[in-house]
Amino acid sequence: MYPLNLLIKPASGYCNFKCKYCFYEDVAHNREVQSYGFMSTKTLEQIVKKALKFAKDECTFTFQGGEPTLVGLDFYKDLIKFQKKYNKKGLKIHNTIQTNGYLIDKEWAKFLHNNNFLVGISLDGTKEINDINRIDANKEGTYDKILETIELFNKYKVEYNILTVVTSYVATNIKSIYEFYKEKNFSYQQYIPCLDPIGEIRGNHEYSLTPKLYGKFLKDLFDLWYEDMTNGRFVYNRYFENIVGIIKGFRPEACGMIGHCTLQNVIEADGSVYPCDFYVLDDQKIGNLIEMDFEDIERKRSESKFIETSLKVEDCCMECKWKNLCRGGCRRDRDENMDGNLSVNYFCESYKEFFEYAIDRLVKL
Ligand code: SF4
Ligand code: SF4
Ligand code: SF4
Repeated sequence: MYPLNLLIKPASGYCNFKCKYCFYEDVAHNREVQSYGFMSTKTLEQIVKKALKFAKDECTFTFQGGEPTLVGLDFYKDLIKFQKKYNKKGLKIHNTIQTNGYLIDKEWAKFLHNNNFLVGISLDGTKEINDINRIDANKEGTYDKILETIELFNKYKVEYNILTVVTSYVATNIKSIYEFYKEKNFSYQQYIPCLDPIGEIRGNHEYSLTPKLYGKFLKDLFDLWYEDMTNGRFVYNRYFENIVGIIKGFRPEACGMIGHCTLQNVIEADGSVYPCDFYVLDDQKIGNLIEMDFEDIERKRSESKFIETSLKVEDCCMECKWKNLCRGGCRRDRDENMDGNLSVNYFCESYKEFFEYAIDRLVKL
């Protein structure tokens, strides 16, 4: 039995930043209602109550956006109150939040520490690189503010990961970025390939991550990471850890590495549920938790065939020597063909190049 995972967007797509590559802004532009506003306390209470009734052993609440802190700290104080009130089965509850860090102050930091939140804070490397794309509403760089927030996290012992979007700039500067993260002691790192807008031919923006750049990025980063890991300096890298886990026979925890889409509940501010953060689109809506229970959502989900569509493996993947490690990658990187099937992954050549380069060392680890 898998834990119940909820990814909640309490401020819908609202954000106080204006990052040039923001994928959720693009998702919102591709649906009829761009923003569902702020989630009400009543909706939050319904979600917590229904989730804790439905979950069997563990339940993870992840808050994301847009910018989830815009809804205010009291929203999260209510969350904790509801989790205590409705956890009748004594389930293990995890809370996580992904933030741009802009609104975090001392009070927030204390709250996040006291309530064991795991925080993902977005930072795209050094000031020079970060401030090219991660800008605020006034088009000013955001690096200084993000670093202030990280200082607060250190001071108040908040557990955090650094989330870095792999743009063309990050990919070509990964060596200096990695050294900088080392200096700052950022030992928990997640790198997320940058997406081009839905429906566009990929690779046409200055920030676009091309397969060639991604392949080179993975190799460069791996060299740096491997050196640290074999010299007794632990650095958590989500992608590499998952690959090593697959080699050891474990199921990867990162959805896009499992080989098909998985059960996810992405919940917009009005209580609507969608199958994945990349697909919060009108034609993918499963239902709404105000009117429905999780049992109804599961019934509707199986009718939608979202997961089934991702199960078909391409012939070239079946014959590929890396199929057990790669598993075809995330569906968002596979275009839908006219016949409804998915094409081979956009980053196929990057994966092949990387595995060929790193496999011996991966196995050693
Ligand atoms: S902080 Fe996140 S949600 Fe806000 S604009 Fe940047 S990428 Fe988009
Ligand atoms: S699109 Fe990617 S992240 Fe979303 S459910 Fe499918 S594999 Fe997972
Ligand atoms: S490397 Fe390419 S062909 Fe091989 S499994 Fe991955 S996506 Fe398929």
